[in-house]
Amino acid sequence: MKVAILGAGVAGVSTAIALRQKGFHVSIYERHEKQSSIGAGVVLWPNASFVLGRLGVLDEVKAVAGRPTKMQRLSVQNDDLGALDIGLINHHMAHPSLSILRRDLQSILIAKLNTLNVSIQYGHTVEDIKAITSEQTEVYFQNGLRVSADVIIGADGRMASTARHFVCGEHAPVFQGMINWIGVFESENDIFSEIVVSDYWGIGERFGIVPVAANKAYWAGGVACDQIGTREPANYKTELTGIFSDWPEPVRQMIEHTPVHQINKIYLHDHDPTPIWHRNNLIMIGDAAHAPLPTSGQGACQALEDAWHIANCLETFPDNLYQAFEKFTALRLAKTTSITMAGRGLAASLFNRDKEFCRLRNENSKQTDFEKAAVGMAHLWGQHLPILMT
Ligand SMILES: Cc1cc2nc3c(=O)[nH]c(=O)nc-3n(C[C@H](O)[C@H](O)[C@H](O)COP(=O)(O)OP(=O)(O)OC[C@H]3O[C@@H](n4cnc5c(N)ncnc54)[C@H](O)[C@@H]3O)c2cc1C
Repeated sequence: MKVAILGAGVAGVSTAIALRQKGFHVSIYERHEKQSSIGAGVVLWPNASFVLGRLGVLDEVKAVAGRPTKMQRLSVQNDDLGALDIGLINHHMAHPSLSILRRDLQSILIAKLNTLNVSIQYGHTVEDIKAITSEQTEVYFQNGLRVSADVIIGADGRMASTARHFVCGEHAPVFQGMINWIGVFESENDIFSEIVVSDYWGIGERFGIVPVAANKAYWAGGVACDQIGTREPANYKTELTGIFSDWPEPVRQMIEHTPVHQINKIYLHDHDPTPIWHRNNLIMIGDAAHAPLPTSGQGACQALEDAWHIANCLETFPDNLYQAFEKFTALRLAKTTSITMAGRGLAASLFNRDKEFCRLRNENSKQTDFEKAAVGMAHLWGQHLPILMT
C-alpha cells in the first residue's frame, strides 16, 4: 500500500516511521526547505514514551531528555501553590515522562526515518487537494507536482491545514485570547539542581520553566490579550521585560539570558473538535485533526499516539480504508476532545484577569488533592494504550 504524508512535523514523521516498520511504502512532503520545528520544547508524558518505545527511539530520546520529577505551582510572590508528583503519573502509566527540546526530538525522529530509507521531500508546499472520484484524491503542490496514493495522511498542522480544508470545508483555527513567548535557555554553568517544572501563576499572566538538563531549559511566558497583534522579534525582550520584570528571579533569569534568536512569539489558537476526520482516501492526524492549546500539555503526545493508532488501523483493515479510518476516529475522537477541552479550561483559569478570581484560584490550588489529580491525568492519557495502570 502506498501512503503519502503531508507535513513532516511530529505527527507526519512518527507516522512515517510507524508505517514503514509495518512494511508500507511511504512518501512524506514538507513545505519547509530543511528541518525545522515549531516551539521550544515539550514534555513527553508516559503515553508519548510508550509510542516512542514502539517506534524504537526511546533510548535516543532518554539520552538527551530531562526526567521531570514534579510540577511546582508558585504565585508571583513565590508562594507555594502545591505540586504535582510526576513520578506518580509515571508509576500509574509504567513509562517515564521526559522533557526535551523540540529540535532534539525532531532530529531523533528524522534520523530514525532515514534508517528506514525514507527521506523527507522538502520544499513541497501543498496548494490544493481535490477529489478525483468518490474514493480517490489528488494533491497539488506549489511546485507543480501532483501526487495520488492509496492513502493520503494530512499532517499539516493547526494554522492552515489543507487536509482539514478538504475534509471539513474550512480550516480556520480559533484564537483563544492569549500570547505565548517561548524560548530556549542554555548556560555554561549548571543552574538547576533538579529537573522540576516551575509554573508561576499571575493575574492574566503565567510563566513556565521546564528544565531539560542542569544547564538547559525551555520556557513560556503567557499573557491574556484581546486580539492578534504584531510579531517583531526585535521587541520580544522588551515586551517580556515589560510584563515580567517584577516576577521571581528564575523568570527574570530566563528572559535576560535567552538570546533573542531563541525567542518566539505565538498567538495561541486551537481547533473546535470536529467529528469527521476523513474523506475519500484522506485522513487527517495531529494538529490538523485536533489541535489543543499548550495548556493541555498534550499536543505532541497526541500526535505520537495518532502515529501508533493509524498504523495499526491500516494494518488491521488493509482492504477497507473506510473501516480503518472509522476505527481510527473512534479510538481518537473522544480522547483528543477531552484533552482540547481540558486545555481550554485550564487556560481560562490561568489567564483570567480578575484579581479576586485569581486569589481564590491560588487558594484552591493549595487545597488540591494532587494524588487524585495525578491518577485522573494518568487515566485520561492512558486511554486506548496497552500501558500498565495500577
Ligand atoms: C507554545 C507551544 C507549546 C507547546 N508545548 C507542548 C508540550 O509541552 N507538550 C506537547 O505534547 N505539545 C505541546 N505543544 C503542541 C505541539 O507542538 C503540537 O501539538 C505538535 O507539534 C503537533 O504536531 P503536528 O505534526 O500535528 O503539527 P506541526 O508540528 O505543526 O507540523 C506540521 C508540519 O506540516 C507542515 N506544513 C504545514 N502546511 C503545509 C503545506 N501546505 N504543505 C506542506 N507542509 C505543510 C509544517 O511546515 C510542519 O512541518 C505546544 C505548542 C505550542 C504552540
